[in-house]
Amino acid sequence: MGENNLYYQSTRGSKKRFLSTEAIIKGIADDGGLFVPMVIPRINKDLHKLKGLDYKRLAYLVMKDFFTDYKEDELISCIKQAYDKKFDTKVVAPLIKKRGAYFLELYHGPTLAFKDMALSILPHLLRKAAQKLNLKQEIVILTATSGDTGKAALEGFANLPGTKIIVFFPQEGVSEIQKRQMLTQKGENTYVIGIRGNFDDAQRGVKQIFEDPIFNEKMEEKNFIFSSANSINIGRLIPQIVYYFYAYLNLLERGEIKVGEKINITVPTGNFGNILAAYYAKSMGLPLHKLICASNENKVLADFFNTGIYDKRRELVRTISPSMDILVSSNLERWLWDISEGKTEQVSELMNSLDKKGFYQVTPKMKNKLEGFSGGFAREEEARNSIKEVFQESGYLIDPHTAVGYVVYKKYVNETQDQTKTVIVATASPFKFTTSVMESISKEYKKYDDFELIEKMANLSQLPIPPGMKDLKNKPILHHIICDKSEMKSKITEILSY
Ligand SMILES: *Cc1c(COP(=O)(O)O)cnc(C)c1O
Repeated sequence: MGENNLYYQSTRGSKKRFLSTEAIIKGIADDGGLFVPMVIPRINKDLHKLKGLDYKRLAYLVMKDFFTDYKEDELISCIKQAYDKKFDTKVVAPLIKKRGAYFLELYHGPTLAFKDMALSILPHLLRKAAQKLNLKQEIVILTATSGDTGKAALEGFANLPGTKIIVFFPQEGVSEIQKRQMLTQKGENTYVIGIRGNFDDAQRGVKQIFEDPIFNEKMEEKNFIFSSANSINIGRLIPQIVYYFYAYLNLLERGEIKVGEKINITVPTGNFGNILAAYYAKSMGLPLHKLICASNENKVLADFFNTGIYDKRRELVRTISPSMDILVSSNLERWLWDISEGKTEQVSELMNSLDKKGFYQVTPKMKNKLEGFSGGFAREEEARNSIKEVFQESGYLIDPHTAVGYVVYKKYVNETQDQTKTVIVATASPFKFTTSVMESISKEYKKYDDFELIEKMANLSQLPIPPGMKDLKNKPILHHIICDKSEMKSKITEILSY
């Protein structure tokens, strides 16, 4: 290995290089930037020769060139511990053809959202990294969640030796089921805290803690180091590249596309992590044409792709797709680094402007590179109608996030007449958002609560109730802390001083 290591550097400051283990442990760079791979490795195999590989083998092939300082058996062991029986289907990520498109179901993991795809492996990558770097401290995972990350991270880290996990979620910004999933989390090392504020408040709070050298030093003296399970961690981003290859190979295998044929990908987007992974897949050599970035009414990204101006100066709207209720999409910074051709001063300037003025505008040269993407958005009504339409016409249930993707896909095809085959990423199970889904189908369901609707949904769709949903209502609430956004640091100190 040695010579062939891939290094990571910050999007903002120094050119200091980090190995993947170091970047995974640190989560975020000291200067507040995000770690990016200095080059994107090319997939050095003919794609058609990879047809039929199972998910785990493909995962190894895709990830090995990013995580070069893990030995082969180390990485394979992480992969095996991640994509096992926690997933309710052997194929891990089924691709379902409906209504002229292909839905890539990434919600078959323990918490019913696509976050499981990465958060089932991150804890193992992190623990292995700590061993390899001879770290003596306990790792404390700090995470802000708009709903799905929190539960997936809790599941992944619960009772993992040498780690603690503290999750902050916006009290009023997640669904009842999401909240219940988190508040009933077992595990001696798990802490769940509600914030009076929205997701951006929670995310900003966590970021500030990472960027606070004095606090971090103090904690290190107490034998704790902080790391992140948010999608800013490279150990979360890279595993997400795998399923784009998987979907493509599946289409090849089924004869839906020819070797080398390009496809489009539509991703319901929030923090820009999932779609950035698609961009990385494309950079690795996967034949992808347009990456269609789908926003809900918080359409900062849609506006950005249409104008080159990223402007967060607007009210956050709460929608039926809460995991996308985000105004600051952190991972976009990685893409800016890429299209600026690694000019960290330029990225810092833009980020500074966003922070100080609330917006930034990319340079004309960068603007030319926006065209690999198409940005669109769905209104609430449109998302609701599409849930109903898809169900009535094909008996297929989609969740509100996936519905946003579907609406934006339809609009894109209408506007462009682009006939390229398209994979729509289905990011959550409809069982996670029973109220919004069932009420979209018929008003008669308004009289039931989230939990009653689980069974009704199972009857209507003829789908089994997913394991994580059974008995959710009767599980004891194990976490009770609520705090202001200004108190996050002191809560952490409290937790860690026991
Ligand atoms: C997190 C999440 C998203 C947004 O993904 P990003 O990587 O943040 O863009 C979309 N849908 C669901 C269900 C999610 O949990």
